[in-house]
Amino acid sequence: MVDYARKGGERMYCRVIVDIVHENVAKPFTYLIPEHMQLIPGQRVAVPFGSREKEGIVIETMPESDVPAEKVKAILRQLEDYAAVPPELLALAGEMAGKAHCPLAETLRLMLPAQMRGGRIRVKTVRTARLAVTADEAEKAAAADRRGGKRSQLIRLLLSGEEKTVRELSDTVRDPADALKKLARDGIVILSEQESLRTPHDAYTEVRDPGYDLTEGQQEALDEILPRLREKGGRFLLHGVTGSGKTEVFMKAVRETLAIGKCAIILVPEIALTPQMVSWFRGRFGAVAAVIHSRLSAGERYDEWRRIRRGEARVVIGARSAVFSPVEKLGLIVVDEEHESTYLNDRRPQYDTRDIAESRCNRESATLILASATPSILSFARARRGDYILLEMPYRVNDRPLPEVEIADMREELEKGNRTVLSGALRRALKECTEKGEQAILLMNRRGYNSFVSCRSCGYVVKCPNCDISMTYHIGDANGKLRCHYCGTEQRPPVICPVCGGHYIRYFGAGTQKVEEEVHRLLPDVPTVRMDYDTTGTKDGHGKILEEFRSGRARVLIGTQMIAKGLDFPQVTLVGVVAADMALNLPDYRSRERAFQLLTQVAGRAGRGQQSGRVIIQTYRPNDPVIGFAAKQDYRAFFESEFRRRRNGLYPPFTVLARLLAESADEGKAVRAAETLRNRTDELLQSHPEWQRKVLTILSDVPSVRFLKGKYRRHILIKALVSTETDAFFGTLTALASEDADDTEIWFEINPNTMM
Ligand code: ADP
Ligand code: ZN
Repeated sequence: MVDYARKGGERMYCRVIVDIVHENVAKPFTYLIPEHMQLIPGQRVAVPFGSREKEGIVIETMPESDVPAEKVKAILRQLEDYAAVPPELLALAGEMAGKAHCPLAETLRLMLPAQMRGGRIRVKTVRTARLAVTADEAEKAAAADRRGGKRSQLIRLLLSGEEKTVRELSDTVRDPADALKKLARDGIVILSEQESLRTPHDAYTEVRDPGYDLTEGQQEALDEILPRLREKGGRFLLHGVTGSGKTEVFMKAVRETLAIGKCAIILVPEIALTPQMVSWFRGRFGAVAAVIHSRLSAGERYDEWRRIRRGEARVVIGARSAVFSPVEKLGLIVVDEEHESTYLNDRRPQYDTRDIAESRCNRESATLILASATPSILSFARARRGDYILLEMPYRVNDRPLPEVEIADMREELEKGNRTVLSGALRRALKECTEKGEQAILLMNRRGYNSFVSCRSCGYVVKCPNCDISMTYHIGDANGKLRCHYCGTEQRPPVICPVCGGHYIRYFGAGTQKVEEEVHRLLPDVPTVRMDYDTTGTKDGHGKILEEFRSGRARVLIGTQMIAKGLDFPQVTLVGVVAADMALNLPDYRSRERAFQLLTQVAGRAGRGQQSGRVIIQTYRPNDPVIGFAAKQDYRAFFESEFRRRRNGLYPPFTVLARLLAESADEGKAVRAAETLRNRTDELLQSHPEWQRKVLTILSDVPSVRFLKGKYRRHILIKALVSTETDAFFGTLTALASEDADDTEIWFEINPNTMM
């Protein structure tokens, strides 16, 4: 794999990207490869940099130096004897850096487990021993140890000829180290260090291949996918209603991928929320599957990465960063629940996992499957345009019907004097469902007990001292607390209003804790379980809660949007959406899309088993079209309406939204930085009329949250037409944003997840 063979005393050079993210060093540096060393692109090395030692990645080797030879320093050593970044990922990092206009060092970091950098994690080794001599000779040596001491015991243990770890030997022989060393010195035993892998697998129960007969929809989808998968690869959008059996389609596609000697990557929005998918894959593919889990220890993560890099693990399941898995011979990438916003990485370097997956598939002739019951507007529009082959699975497996959806008008409930969070209809349905021994899911998209605390006299709302955000009231074991959902700050609720001194402090709005309390009041004997950020903080918190529900010990599951995704519980016959309007009220052009997705997905949790399902959506806006589309679970109608609205309102995908955000602990500095950015943006546009023509609006604005985690914020919003000129303009802005500002952090985001 080495580019050039080293002949005679010929000197060899390489270009290295040093692992420092700074504009000034955002270029490769040339180094000399010492005589005894062989390097290939993608290998990690230690290099002298200024007066210090730094890590870097070789991106190119060459026979001659491009800088004066006397200025070239030599590579100090190689960090591994293989290319940590394989060629495809090296190319991908280059492409990403070009597109995101950021230093290559920054995108290269995505390609490696974070802990690998800076030597913070090492290969774990175990000491082993085996015989160096024949069994006969060993017997003789053992017999010579007449006292029957450690020596003879150790030799007897090794007589089988198998290599044993020193640890295993110490189960039988106490403190064998010294005796083993002596045996090694006498030439009877060979001691060595072996790499060992920290595999986190035992956490998952394995299940067998269920051997289903495929449904017609599954068969038709596979008939399209498999032939292309065997050839040059294809791009698909799999739109299948909830419960149509999309997972089985992936499984079959993965099996085919392995059969033709290639590897597969399965991406899920959040691995902790997909334990079923993970256990299905592990059950069917065993040790060939690697699971990249956010709760893996650093060592486990590194070892899973190495199993993938060595080709021992050929199916990778993980969240967005798994798209960078160093599999060789990539055959398939699946992006499950492709509409989820977790696929967008908002932090630097910004990327959309779906774009990366597509780019990898193009580069490596692999097949891409984007899958969802509620595809993103973006992906569905692209499928309609012909970028993806659209595969539809409109029916549930075994002809199970989609659940019946009813709307409960909460305005009428108020009129009837019902001030609780549960409508009459939902109360009756919950009673019926649990009396029949079935299970229910209640979605409440906010955690805590009350959503805000306010003074009745003057209207003061308690806000976080570090954020411009109202604090949420949480009940606890002893007494309640106010908590900020952004920075976690906690404080005791005030008794007297700090502004007017009044005594009318009141609690408003509901969260999951309140819903749980209502359910307990209604059904005192029914065990419930609550799943939200507060109850899932511990290691395997998600797993324990889901197991509680799966086993049937808990009959009602109450939770935030984390319960809406991908769960498959056959006993669930009732789903209640406690406050559907919450998602619709967000000030974001995507709020309708997100509300539709959330409602449809959570409705899809009902009636997946033998019994049919029922869904009750509680709302103050029963006539809102989005609620109507979700109630009918009519994706097409929703898509058409939303697509039209985006076109008329000039929203993405018809335009690109970008923002420059300045954050500083000093408000004046944030304001000045934003002003400077605005001026420079205007200057740029004046000198580039061709960019100017593509820009629709520029707003220098105060964000909806002007103070967050102790920092003041100002932003500039830019809306522009989709075009190469816009790309060029935004590229220049990225570079601008990476320059230092006075005690101020500058962020540049394109179509960010949140405009907050
Ligand atoms: P989706 O992801 O499309 O919502 P799943 O893949 O979770 O649906 O499948 C729903 C349920 O149907 C699962 O319990 C799965 O085991 C089962 N299933 C999938 N395919 C079949 C089939 N061909 N026959 C019977 N059951 C199936
Ligand atoms: Zn806060």
